[in-house]
Amino acid sequence: MDYTAPTALLKDKIILVTGAGDGIGRVAALTYASYGATVVLLGRTTTKLESVYDEIIASGAPEPGIAPMDLATATPDEIQKLAEVMEEQYGRLDGLLHNAAILGDRVPVEHYDINTWMKVMQVNLHAVFLLTRIFMPLLRQSSSASLLFSSSGVGATPRAYWGAYSVSKYALEGLAKLLMEELENASHIRVNILNPGGTRTSMRATAYPNEDPATLKAPEDLMPLYLYLMGDDSEHIKGETLQG
Ligand code: NAP
Repeated sequence: MDYTAPTALLKDKIILVTGAGDGIGRVAALTYASYGATVVLLGRTTTKLESVYDEIIASGAPEPGIAPMDLATATPDEIQKLAEVMEEQYGRLDGLLHNAAILGDRVPVEHYDINTWMKVMQVNLHAVFLLTRIFMPLLRQSSSASLLFSSSGVGATPRAYWGAYSVSKYALEGLAKLLMEELENASHIRVNILNPGGTRTSMRATAYPNEDPATLKAPEDLMPLYLYLMGDDSEHIKGETLQG
């Protein structure tokens, strides 16, 4: 995307990024912070979150929050507690980037490992529902909130052998579209879907082990789009699916 964000695009914004320790989420968290946001880093590996935290502090950006949480096992109560802490600390949420996801297996449905199926659906879909549901009151406190759902080409159109990942992203798009309709009249909350497309991360390397990573775009290349959708320059963009 051809977009140059103003340096203070996200000044004073409170943004929660899931899967902020690695891949696209890590770069998005660093980028949002560098444009002035206070970012809350949610992820399952505390050491990775700490290193993102350290990078943000070293850059002089606003101090981020750290929310270690395994979305495969997080209970509604745990998520509610996080929302309460954030309400106390910040009073609102201006952006939520649903980014964390797992790939699962790529085998025919009839051979799909049942526990893996459940886990993929939990992380990629049910946790997204829980976070959205529980953080909605905080999003409503924002004067201009952006809710972003990370999908995939195999979410828009299910692809054979991509199993629970494909189904979870298909359903995630359904959830996002449902919310788009329900929030149509909530003029200050916008919901969009973004599909980063093939990007150089460990998830992509696992999915396509024979691919040369050098042929792929880097997470940094996606940041104009991620900034645009998170900042108020996209205030009028609602209910769209954008491709990276
Ligand atoms: P990635 O490199 O595998 O990073 C995923 C992040 O999510 C990691 O920080 C990971 O934490 C976190 N995560 C995974 N399971 C979690 C859990 N149970 N609880 C909390 N955090 C968890 O993936 P990516 O390629 O950056 O993908 C980011 C998003 O883009 C995903 O929604 C993916 O489906 C979508 N996408 C990616 C591509 C691509 O080509 N890369 C293409 C289309 C769509 P750990 O590091 O601690 O494991």
